[in-house]
Amino acid sequence: MDATMENKMGLPPPYEPSAPNPAPPPSYFGDNPPPPAAPTTQPRTVVVTSAPTSSDTSDIKIGPRPTGITCPNCNRSVVTRVHYAANNRTHIISAGLCILTGCCCGCFVPYCMRSCKSANHFCPKCRAFIGTYAPS
Ligand SMILES: [Zn+2]
Repeated sequence: MDATMENKMGLPPPYEPSAPNPAPPPSYFGDNPPPPAAPTTQPRTVVVTSAPTSSDTSDIKIGPRPTGITCPNCNRSVVTRVHYAANNRTHIISAGLCILTGCCCGCFVPYCMRSCKSANHFCPKCRAFIGTYAPS
């Protein structure tokens, strides 16, 4: 009896007509096996992460200090301008010092140490971002 009342009161229950599914598409590659996965050609940024395999970056040799290079953007020989920025390692060291010392007295130390920061190199001529050196 409840079902009849519901039919009177409300809309019919939602019913999706089962459209006949078309036949599954044939295999894209037919008899030929799919080609091997093409190497990804996505542009790789020079940001060095904390991954252990971070040595496959560009051929630009940059260090924690201003480095003389040829700018890949303007092709001029420049000495990079370095901006030091705190990275995750800085935060980890800061947290570690905070735990070891029992207070936050040492928390700021890593933020004052260049060796604990990433060095972002910029071209002083065209101001292009060249790369990041992360201390290891
Ligand atoms: Zn440049």
